[in-house]
Amino acid sequence: MQHAKFKQLGAVMIISAAFAFSAQAQDKKPNVVVIGTGGTIAGAGASSVNTAAYQSAVVPVDKIIAAVPEISKIANVRGEQIFQIGSESFNDERLLKLGKRVSELLKQSDVDGIVITHGTDTIEETAYFLNLVLKSEKPVVVVGSMRPGTALGADGALNLYDAVLVAGSKEAAGKGTLVVMNDEIHSGRDVTKSNNSFKVETFRSPYGPLGYVVENKLMFYRLPARPHTTQTEFDIDQINSLPRVDIAYNYGNVSRAAYDAFVNAGAKAIIHDGTGNGSVAEQIVPVLQEVRSKGVQVIRATRTGSGVVIRNGEQPDDKYDWVVTDDQNAQKARILAELALTKTNDTKELQKIMWKY
Ligand code: GLU
Repeated sequence: MQHAKFKQLGAVMIISAAFAFSAQAQDKKPNVVVIGTGGTIAGAGASSVNTAAYQSAVVPVDKIIAAVPEISKIANVRGEQIFQIGSESFNDERLLKLGKRVSELLKQSDVDGIVITHGTDTIEETAYFLNLVLKSEKPVVVVGSMRPGTALGADGALNLYDAVLVAGSKEAAGKGTLVVMNDEIHSGRDVTKSNNSFKVETFRSPYGPLGYVVENKLMFYRLPARPHTTQTEFDIDQINSLPRVDIAYNYGNVSRAAYDAFVNAGAKAIIHDGTGNGSVAEQIVPVLQEVRSKGVQVIRATRTGSGVVIRNGEQPDDKYDWVVTDDQNAQKARILAELALTKTNDTKELQKIMWKY
């Protein structure tokens, strides 16, 4: 009798130990918040063959998460809908709102990482912005998809799974804001969209991705060289508005109309998105001098899509008191210039910032 009782007690102890162990294993899963902002990853098409024509930003983030039940095995995930927009509609106000919410969440001890679902059009701007203003080592991953969830060969489910894996990992900590798409992990500083409408391999970094994510494994091969997150002078908690910076695209026969309009609209800087090495057409040289004389900063970038704009190369920047971008494309230069102008309006300081980040 006694013996049977002990046996029973032993079994109960083993079972409860097993429960405790599995509860502990459960607790070991990272807590990841998925913030929904819209885009194709929240898109739906009329039929499964609509891979490129569909409505974006219609599926709520909780539904997007629920469609990938595998995620619950790798992380405790909860969704939060902040916007439901096409990312072309990301204005500065929305950027600030998103940044502040991410910052708030990162301060919570029960949050290990953040994923932001986002339209692919402006992922590169949001990711660069967050990379520059967040003050945390915890992983923040921006993710999107090129095909809506309703399409054959939809890429959103795997991208989201991989993004959660990266956001919940220790390896991704301290590497700045990342973009995870199509098995690749990119630095938010470098990544850019290279195909407009349907290629799932659209995201490219001029120096290649930081690594891959394949079958539950993160493989990093290089690290971001430029300061980010905790290493920068920009803190999202201190920024409540951004100065206006506009981009003037250049081409043969370019006129002064865009420059005048931007100055009249109150731009504090104009990114001159020039041909070649940020070249300036002869009819635009006096226009840029006039712009500068009105106190508006002139920042030369290149429309070529890659390369470094050389200071005093195509134009005597020292003489005209102009600034050049480093290798940032015009849209990334706009983000950095807006942040830089919250700190200084001194051309030399501005130039240092453009070269630093
Ligand atoms: N234009 C939309 C956006 O950027 C859809 C494109 C996409 O997400 O791939 O949100």
